[in-house]
Amino acid sequence: MEAAVKPVTSDAPAELESFSPIDGARLGSVQAADPAEVQSAVDDVAEVQPFWAQLPLADRARYMRRAGQAIIDQLDDLATLLTREQGKPRNESYSMELVPTIDALRWLAEAGPGILSDERVAMPVFMKQKRSRHTLEPLGVVGVIAPWNYPWSIPFGEVAFALMAGNGVVLKPSELTPLIGQRIQDTFERAGLPEGLVRTVHGDGAVGQALVESSVEKIFFTGSVEVGKRVGMACASRMKGSVLELGGKDAMIVCADANLPNAISGCLWGGFANAGQTCAGIERVYVEREVADRFVEGVVAGAKALRVGDPRDWDTEVGPMVSTEQLEIVRSLVDDAVAAGATLRCGGQRDLPGLPGVGAYAPAVLTGVTPEMRIMREEIFGPVVPITVVDSLGEAVELANDSEFGLGASVWTTNRAKSERLARRLDAGMVWANDHMYSHGAVSCAWGGVKDSGLGRSHAKFGLLEGTNVKLMSWEPSRTRNFWWHPYDESLGRALHSSAQLLYGRDSDKPAALRRGAGPLLRLARKSLRGAFRR
Ligand code: NAD
Repeated sequence: MEAAVKPVTSDAPAELESFSPIDGARLGSVQAADPAEVQSAVDDVAEVQPFWAQLPLADRARYMRRAGQAIIDQLDDLATLLTREQGKPRNESYSMELVPTIDALRWLAEAGPGILSDERVAMPVFMKQKRSRHTLEPLGVVGVIAPWNYPWSIPFGEVAFALMAGNGVVLKPSELTPLIGQRIQDTFERAGLPEGLVRTVHGDGAVGQALVESSVEKIFFTGSVEVGKRVGMACASRMKGSVLELGGKDAMIVCADANLPNAISGCLWGGFANAGQTCAGIERVYVEREVADRFVEGVVAGAKALRVGDPRDWDTEVGPMVSTEQLEIVRSLVDDAVAAGATLRCGGQRDLPGLPGVGAYAPAVLTGVTPEMRIMREEIFGPVVPITVVDSLGEAVELANDSEFGLGASVWTTNRAKSERLARRLDAGMVWANDHMYSHGAVSCAWGGVKDSGLGRSHAKFGLLEGTNVKLMSWEPSRTRNFWWHPYDESLGRALHSSAQLLYGRDSDKPAALRRGAGPLLRLARKSLRGAFRR
């Protein structure tokens, strides 16, 4: 049975039911929003947000710490729900979802106030009497639209960053994972944040679209390229911003001097964690010929040894796919590659005994793939690692960059200088050496991609700034008149010409510039000081 949802219709508020991909069991339901009601949720949050925005940064930071404690207090319960609703192995619910968000809240509490505080601006030499500051104001109410693959850590992070910056949030979780999505709002309420500052609207794409079209000031969208582009365009046409975290086709480059056992283990984790349903999962491997046989052998043996089964068991390493649709996408891409001449070295669709849910796809390794195959161009979003042997690192970089995506990439070598040289040549938002994708769990690091993988950044100071309006506030003591004000005469242009040479020009021109400019500069100085004596 698939993890289906009841369709949301616009004529009546419906229930949105959630089914486990493990065994098809009905886990519960939430109230689905009618798209027509989304604006009123935004309006409700807008009533509360101004009070939150008034809170000093140190107080907002205290709430972030409390939210971290609120997660700790329900950790096992949340992990169980995550695994049951989305299907990721129990250990990954802790390691890839929950614990990173506790650390994210701590980071926001510690680093947030410094990043969000006013910043003094150094003024040009012509304007030294003025005092200027950049102040970072909250946007107001923002919308967060989330996917199902990391239904906790992705939206939780977006919501927490927006709140720390002083915003209110309307969250639209994925329709496949509404129960865990609802727990995000509940957790902030448990932590004592003002009720109504975070509201959740449940439903499918129509509800997401209504949120985009509502009066929210910005949309933080994570999901597919196709929907993301539509969301970005709809936001642009309303003059509102969007941060788009979209799909990926990450490459792993294995150099001949890599620590091979580590590269093999890293490939297994980067390719098969969360059953490969990770935007920055390894989707292509380019390995230097010298070590290719040993690498392929190790990855195939390791993939066969991964334990596929009930994700509620502690030792399961690969659980079921989230839905029959997702399973079908993976199956068809692998079948297409094999029909085009690739070799499936291991893996494939597999029922899980006693678990009549979606079913699993056992970790698959493909060799003999070529760049034009669909599996090398489209996002797989499943536990499949296609491996290509290359004759040089130049060829590896060229093939890695030959993609519409540009989320992450990794380089595996024991030579740090080489890893940095390769990193600079890769078209990606993130390049990791001797690891892959882990940095989503370290929110001090920026997250995001180039090309079709998205726009803007989550996490780090950049993620906080995405939730703010930068306002310039400038003070002029008003003791003098600006020399560029009216009335105009020849002395202004002449004085500026000389000043440009004196301040920024070559040294040999300066004496002549001073001779030519002395008169006009004196006249300008007199004009400026006139205001000072007139008071
Ligand atoms: P999706 O695009 O189908 O849906 C994402 C969200 O958008 C869901 O909540 C959905 O209901 C909503 N939505 C659908 N149509 C909409 C519309 N017209 N307007 C507004 N909202 C709409 O993606 P998905 O299948 O849930 O997630 C998988 C995709 O997300 C993959 O492509 C994956 O690579 C990507 N992803 C990217 C990142 C990243 O950080 N770059 C992280 C996780 C997932």
